[in-house]
Amino acid sequence: MSNLDSLDAHAHAASSSAAQPRLSVVIPLYNESGSLGPLHQRLSAVLKGMALASYEVVFVDDGSRDNTYAEVAELCAIDPALKAIRFARNFGKEAAMAAGLRAASGDVVVLMDGDLQHPPELIPEMLERWRGGAMMVTAVRRSRDTDPWLRRQLSRAFYAFFRKVSEVALAEGGGDFRIFDRAVVDAINSLPERTRFMKGITSWVGFRQEEVDFEPEERAAGASAWSMLRLLRYAIDGLSAFSTLPLRVWSVIGLVMAGLSALYGAWLVVRTIIFGIDLPGYASIMVSVLFLSGIQLISLGVLGEYIGRIFTEVKGRPLFLVSERIGFGDGRESRR
Ligand code: UDP
Ligand code: MG
Repeated sequence: MSNLDSLDAHAHAASSSAAQPRLSVVIPLYNESGSLGPLHQRLSAVLKGMALASYEVVFVDDGSRDNTYAEVAELCAIDPALKAIRFARNFGKEAAMAAGLRAASGDVVVLMDGDLQHPPELIPEMLERWRGGAMMVTAVRRSRDTDPWLRRQLSRAFYAFFRKVSEVALAEGGGDFRIFDRAVVDAINSLPERTRFMKGITSWVGFRQEEVDFEPEERAAGASAWSMLRLLRYAIDGLSAFSTLPLRVWSVIGLVMAGLSALYGAWLVVRTIIFGIDLPGYASIMVSVLFLSGIQLISLGVLGEYIGRIFTEVKGRPLFLVSERIGFGDGRESRR
């Protein structure tokens, strides 16, 4: 039995596809028209030099407001290895990555940014690790020196906090430059959750994971789409998807309040017995008001926990809406 299990776990290395896998590269794009040309050139050069059965590059245009999609479409016209998905609007990088992972058909799937901060030249090394048996390989930045000081400090604090309150551990410095085995991609695609948080999801699914170091480059062009506010929202999404602490903490506060008011109530009773009554009924009113508000906070916290979960599930909205696709050859392409 255990023999079978271990065989299964290493199925990819044993199969014939390990020597010459079909490779997919998934790239989310948001206003990256400046980087596309150099990205396509460097990526193609790398992929052509590798021992692969075939490769495809899936661009996901996340509702760019610049020329990105037009340029992607031009590239698709000259390079048959390219495919494109265009979102109906900006749904965010998480949705773009989810769409790309669902569309990718390879035995191995690379996920990388479109601004050339993730050097394509690293892909062969990552694929070597996969050949060696790793199911997921993450490129971890050795330094965050390209980021401003405040952002670095905040990100460090976030990872430390996350480790404390959540069920999964995030690799600090691990960005979204990864290579996945097909089994991991299928596992990720099978998650129905609405609030995507790829860093948490990849660590949640498990499998044999390895890391390689890399030094992120400067953006090839354009500006990072991540404002401080957006990063904050991302952090909150991540926390709420992988920790219920923000909800549960109110129950604890309510409990503490109830405890304190019980003590205070006891003290008021004793004081009334010893020193008499300041104002008729004062002690009993204070006790019941404080104690009941504590109890109410507890029950509100419990209710909030359930309502929050029901709300996200019940909405059941799709993660993203696609307006155009190129190169998938399934008759669902729109031409406009
Ligand atoms: N991106 C996206 N949708 C967005 C924001 C960003 O698809 O709403 C893409 C972007 O085009 C790039 C990647 O996500 O390929 C990383 O974005 P960015 O460079 O802005 O993030 P940073 O490198 O600062 O973390
Ligand atoms: Mg970037």
